[in-house]
Amino acid sequence: MTRREFLGDAAGTVAGIAFVGCDLVSAAPAQAQARRREVVVNGRRVKTVDVHAHCAVPEAMALMGMKVAGPPQQFPLLLVSQPAERIRAMDEQGIDVEALSINAYWYTADRDVATQLIKIQNEKLAEACAANPDRFVAFASVALQFPDLAAQQFEDGVKKYGLRGAAIGGSVNGEDLSDPKFHPFWSKAEQLGVLVFIHPQAAGAAANLKDRLKGSGGLDNTIGNPLETTIALSHLIFEGTLDQFPGVKICAAHGGGYLPSYAARSDAICTTFPNRCTTPLKKKPTEYLRQLYFDSIVFTPEALRHLVAETGSSQIVIGTDYPFPWTKTAVDHILGTPGLSDAERVAMLGETAAKLLGIKV
Ligand SMILES: [Zn+2]
Repeated sequence: MTRREFLGDAAGTVAGIAFVGCDLVSAAPAQAQARRREVVVNGRRVKTVDVHAHCAVPEAMALMGMKVAGPPQQFPLLLVSQPAERIRAMDEQGIDVEALSINAYWYTADRDVATQLIKIQNEKLAEACAANPDRFVAFASVALQFPDLAAQQFEDGVKKYGLRGAAIGGSVNGEDLSDPKFHPFWSKAEQLGVLVFIHPQAAGAAANLKDRLKGSGGLDNTIGNPLETTIALSHLIFEGTLDQFPGVKICAAHGGGYLPSYAARSDAICTTFPNRCTTPLKKKPTEYLRQLYFDSIVFTPEALRHLVAETGSSQIVIGTDYPFPWTKTAVDHILGTPGLSDAERVAMLGETAAKLLGIKV
């Protein structure tokens, strides 16, 4: 879910101002709360890592004329203005570390604003992590509308600020991530060797389908978000971006959207209509799923089982979408899915994400 949608839905406001109240930055290190759930697999304590956790930096938003809106009553976790409340929720849910990210709202900013905004935002993310280093790491924000600038911001984010990767949208002002204009960013990602977290833009796939996604069911979110991710990943595969930058590590939100659930069609198009696959690929489209990473927020054991079958358990990491209350049982989702070995559960709960994000276990 995006913050933009959240406000629109919950507060009845017009989309445009986004907010997750999370004033992580100013707070002193939070004290551990009463009951911290410690996750254990076969007698072994596992450090759990959530790669999909939202927050916001009001000082950066101000540069876009955006303000922190009052958090709606029905989402009590959003009432938090201190990290203590966030940590309390993590403790309750058995999440040891969150990798914080901010959904891009700055892709329309000009270069000067984008430069300032990202600098402030990445500094504040770094401060938030430094205040509670055992509980938070973060993905750098980058101004991907200026790919050269984004590459520099990515490098600064990792090298200067100790951020562990970059978070980007599934498209940039309607342009796909496979567009050659973004190659400088992918090249930098490969060079840095850190994770790129792709989160759908609400205005991505859903923008062109706006009229059809109206009505009951919040379809712009329900279908639009996973669709945006499906399109983003499909272009990165079919346009050969992943062949050109084979070292890039990508983690896709929401279990990779719909792509893993209907993956075989991507292979079938190339055998059924070979003339429609115009870029020669080094392997079958579905094989690329086994080099991408996916968060685990697919809701049912059957969906997780299928995701594992298509991508491999080594490619799956916890995603909660905090503080949007899609789930409070991300850990149980992995512990309770039948057919996984202990080693697979440990990997999905945190081992894989820790390795990707440079978190000590
Ligand atoms: Zn999200």
